[in-house]
Order: sequence, then C-alpha cells, then structure tokens
Amino acid sequence: MPVRQATAPQALVRGGTTTSAYDRQLHDQRQDTHRRRSAVDQMRAIKRLDPQGTVFKTHALGGQRTHASIVLAMKHPKDNQILDWMVCEFSEQGKDGDLLLVMCCPRCVFQLGRPMGEAQFHIQEANRKFYFTPAPPKWNREFGHIWRNPKDPNEVVTIAGTIDMPEWGHCPHLGCRWRFTIEDSILYTG
Ligand SMILES: [Zn+2]
Repeated sequence: MPVRQATAPQALVRGGTTTSAYDRQLHDQRQDTHRRRSAVDQMRAIKRLDPQGTVFKTHALGGQRTHASIVLAMKHPKDNQILDWMVCEFSEQGKDGDLLLVMCCPRCVFQLGRPMGEAQFHIQEANRKFYFTPAPPKWNREFGHIWRNPKDPNEVVTIAGTIDMPEWGHCPHLGCRWRFTIEDSILYTG
C-alpha cells in the first residue's frame, strides 16, 4: 500500500465550502498543540467562519508514525447522497502487522460538540473484523488511489485501499453510541 509520513490529520469533510481564512486557522491550530479550545468555542468559531458547513480536521495522533490514509464516504440516510467524507489514518501495529483504522465520530463532533481529538477512536482488524483490500473504493474508481477533497481542491489524499466492516461497530465515547457499518468504504449509520 502507499505509505507516507504522518503529516495529514484525520479529517471529517462536510458539505459546504471552506475559506482560505479558515484553512489558515486550521494550520495555526495544528502548529499550536498546547492550545486546547473548549467545544463551545470551537463550534462558535466554526459557525462564524463558515455558516454553511465546514471542513473538520484534527491533530494527527502520536508522533512521527508512518501511515497511509483511508477515505470513508458518509451516506446520508435521508437522500442517500454522499456529502461528507472521513479521512482516516491507517496503519499496521505490532509485529503481527494488525491493521488499525483511526476514525472520528461524526455524532460526537457535529451533535455533541466534542473537539475532534476527543471524538477519535480506533478499530482494529483483529477486534472488529474489518477487511482491507488494496484496490480503491468503487465510488472513487475514476481517480483510483487519489482522492481530492471536493470542497478544497488543494487537499489531495492517497487512498491505501478499501475497507469493509459488515458487523455493526459503535463509537466508544461516553453518551454517544453512534452505530455504523462500512461497505466499499461507505459508512452506513443506524
Ligand atoms: Zn461518538
């Protein structure tokens, strides 16, 4: 699979547009890992900068880890449209090479107002029985392993492959219990 340095954070990409001012702000936030804003402040700032929707990004977990990326499309239950995307860190762990996917819970972020760093969780191939195939997802067949953020053409991600997780998983964070399955790197929630 394509591998690169851990420079790209996990991201939730939401319908709407972003501004360069907001991108700059995200960059500044990444530089300042000590500054933690409360969830309320964060949501206020997001609303002020982009009332139509926004791109959510988080700090990369851990130090200089080599990892690849998985992009999950988020299908909306109502109209079946794909408007949101989740950019996940994907890596191998330990001597057995167990595959690890770092996800970010959209319910924690968008409904419970939690900071991105506190909405992340891991799923492991061994525990959750997700399946990885090195081919790109069907919905990105036109571009193969290259995913370009539709809301920000400057953001390009190399997709390692496709994830399937037929059994229900859930967000482990307190008071959330967001449920999901994954098919062809599309997230279905229930
Ligand atoms: Zn959650």
